[in-house]
Amino acid sequence: MKTSTLLHRDRHAPPPGGRGRRRGGGSDGNGTVSSNERLEAFVSAAVDEMRSGFCYADTFADFSPDDIGAVSEVKRFLECYHGDREFRSAAREGGEFTDRQRQMLKDIGVTFAPEAMAPLWTHPDLLERFHLLVAHCENFEDAPSDVHAALASYPELRLWFTWRHRLDRSGMLQRLSMSSRATLSPEYTAWRDRRIMAVRNELGSFGWSLDHPCHAVEMAVGCSVQCSFCAFDAGKLQTVFDLQDPENRALVRGVATGMLEVFGWPAMHGMLYWSTEPHDNPHYVKLLEFWHRLTGAMLCTATARAGEDWVRELVDYYTTGPVPWPRISVLSRGMMRRLHKAFTPLELRDVTLLMQQKDGEALRAKVPGGREKMLQNLVEADDLRKVDFENPPAGFEPPQGSIACISGTLVNMVERTVKLISPCYTTLEHRYGYRVFDETKFDDRPEGFAVALKRLIGRSMVTGVYPEMPVRWRDDLKAVPQPDGFSLLSPTTRRDFRRGEMHLRTAELIGRGDLTYQQVFDALSGSPGVGPFTAMSLLDSLFQKGYLCELAITRDYRARREAGDASLREPLSAAA
Ligand code: SF4
Repeated sequence: MKTSTLLHRDRHAPPPGGRGRRRGGGSDGNGTVSSNERLEAFVSAAVDEMRSGFCYADTFADFSPDDIGAVSEVKRFLECYHGDREFRSAAREGGEFTDRQRQMLKDIGVTFAPEAMAPLWTHPDLLERFHLLVAHCENFEDAPSDVHAALASYPELRLWFTWRHRLDRSGMLQRLSMSSRATLSPEYTAWRDRRIMAVRNELGSFGWSLDHPCHAVEMAVGCSVQCSFCAFDAGKLQTVFDLQDPENRALVRGVATGMLEVFGWPAMHGMLYWSTEPHDNPHYVKLLEFWHRLTGAMLCTATARAGEDWVRELVDYYTTGPVPWPRISVLSRGMMRRLHKAFTPLELRDVTLLMQQKDGEALRAKVPGGREKMLQNLVEADDLRKVDFENPPAGFEPPQGSIACISGTLVNMVERTVKLISPCYTTLEHRYGYRVFDETKFDDRPEGFAVALKRLIGRSMVTGVYPEMPVRWRDDLKAVPQPDGFSLLSPTTRRDFRRGEMHLRTAELIGRGDLTYQQVFDALSGSPGVGPFTAMSLLDSLFQKGYLCELAITRDYRARREAGDASLREPLSAAA
């Protein structure tokens, strides 16, 4: 149920640091630019740029109120399609809806007859093809002529496709842009870049769909919902972080401003829950508002609770953007029906209903991880490493592999812990779908979090290769020998390295798993036809692209830092 984050800066919100402070290029009265002002300028510029690249309101810019109403009703019809097996069957059987189903649509505010959606069953591949169009067409108008022909007599559905294409397209471009954006911390930027490359290789299409938020801040220990499929295996709710307590508010302020100070804009790219349910915290929306005031960002919300008051509170908050939140995990058909009865289609226009029912479509199949019985599915599932990768079976599709999205910090406010994590393919060792690279605690002082964050960065974020660095493959990778090199298989992706002697030798050396960078470099550069420059460039590229085992590297680097190893390369920021 975890999601990516939509960055949003309210046009009227003050810049980070407080209303009325100068933005960018100012001086502290002595002719020098203060670090706070530099920070504000950096963050403001980054947010303005991101915002101009994606403004949710713009997706409706040239839609009339009637058009927006129609789009909202089509959205609701599609929710019934995805969230109600009998409704879906009626559609697939050629639109054979019963009178009861037709009446139900009227009762929940769908004013058109189901026949207005006929292309969904006369062209059953339309929705699937649409997802490909998002990547290939800049505008929906550029879609193939047969798509337009199918929709020609169906104005409501055509409007929905036009709007949805606009939304998905801008989201896709924003994700790509955010994945390549520098932060205030050169160490975090380098580390995150590597993790993004690794995740794309390891998780395939799901990895490409992530925008790698920087943080998740848990405001409780445990979760009251206890979904049977929970990929984080959330324990029962134990403690909730009390935002009414002034000391706790000061601590939240310290975490938000600490992230701003150390990372810059990524403080605005995250969520205030993880293995927790937002609704468990009675002051959750106040918390969102507080974070918004501190950083300028409206963070996203995903929730599995759908009580009317709670949903209305969230809708009221996000409508002020507007931004397309919250996302509600719909655990049963009855839950969907209650939402549809309590809210008009227009009121839920910006709310995503994620259909998690047991009889949901394969599209929303649960990730095999977390809970014990879900892990069993993982053991039984095929991935690219288990099949004949030269001739994969027809229709072969490995499982999604993870629901994690954070490449950065997982913070728990109750336990005062901060972990450095990044998504990976779920295994018995990494059963929650992410690797933990380091963990530390922060104290109760307002600056305690920033101190802990800098500690993590200093000891666990490697900015470049170093001579003693352990060189072995990432733990999900399988290197398969080839006559002229090797193929590297992740659970989802194959990469070939087949340039003869150089790659044969590389596979042999890295496959040993017990050599350092210096040892591999020396042996490789001495191989016939390779030489030092090629060896260096190849090894650095394998490191930068995330093929090497970052867990082993991090542990080694941390041990050397803590032992005061003088041979270690200085972090780039210290050298600057
Ligand atoms: S148990 Fe809680 S954290 Fe896990 S999926 Fe359900 S709501 Fe989310």
